[in-house]
Amino acid sequence: MSRKFALAGAVALALAVTPLAAGTASAATEQEAAVTTVYYSTASAPTFRSVINAGAANWNRSVTNVRLVERNSGASLRYTEGNDPRGSYASTNGHGSGTIFIDYTQARQYNPTRIAAHETGHALGLPDHYSGPCSELMSGGGPGPSCTNAVPNATERARVNQLWANGLVANSEQRVYETVYGF
Ligand SMILES: [Zn+2]
Repeated sequence: MSRKFALAGAVALALAVTPLAAGTASAATEQEAAVTTVYYSTASAPTFRSVINAGAANWNRSVTNVRLVERNSGASLRYTEGNDPRGSYASTNGHGSGTIFIDYTQARQYNPTRIAAHETGHALGLPDHYSGPCSELMSGGGPGPSCTNAVPNATERARVNQLWANGLVANSEQRVYETVYGF
């Protein structure tokens, strides 16, 4: 039997199966396009609850493939607060899970909503880029304390949408963020 014939047979089979599988295929397509919800808890960061929520709202207004929702039970992303000479940081898988720490001293020096939104950016998959301008959220403390921007720029928005295009399925480029200095 020729290879060409075998392929033709396979195509015919696929065509025959298509009507039966149409419902499933359609559902899968909808699932891929659907927004993925990441639940976060502010229970351990009561001082910063409003700025955490403001930062999350900034992200929710900026991206379409992932949505942050506050829910203290069963949250994959937890915010905590305290004093740490290293400052604020994110310990996360870069895909919606982990812990974000907000440092009291740093939050008095820098805009706390920018800190919260920046650390949340790590949980959504973005790396630090301290040399960037204030308009870039992931430049963190780089532009100095006078920078109060807490909204991701167009490049950051596009990158997060790209990283969440497959929902909770991790991107192969996924990085783990450990202690991060300067936010
Ligand atoms: Zn950072």
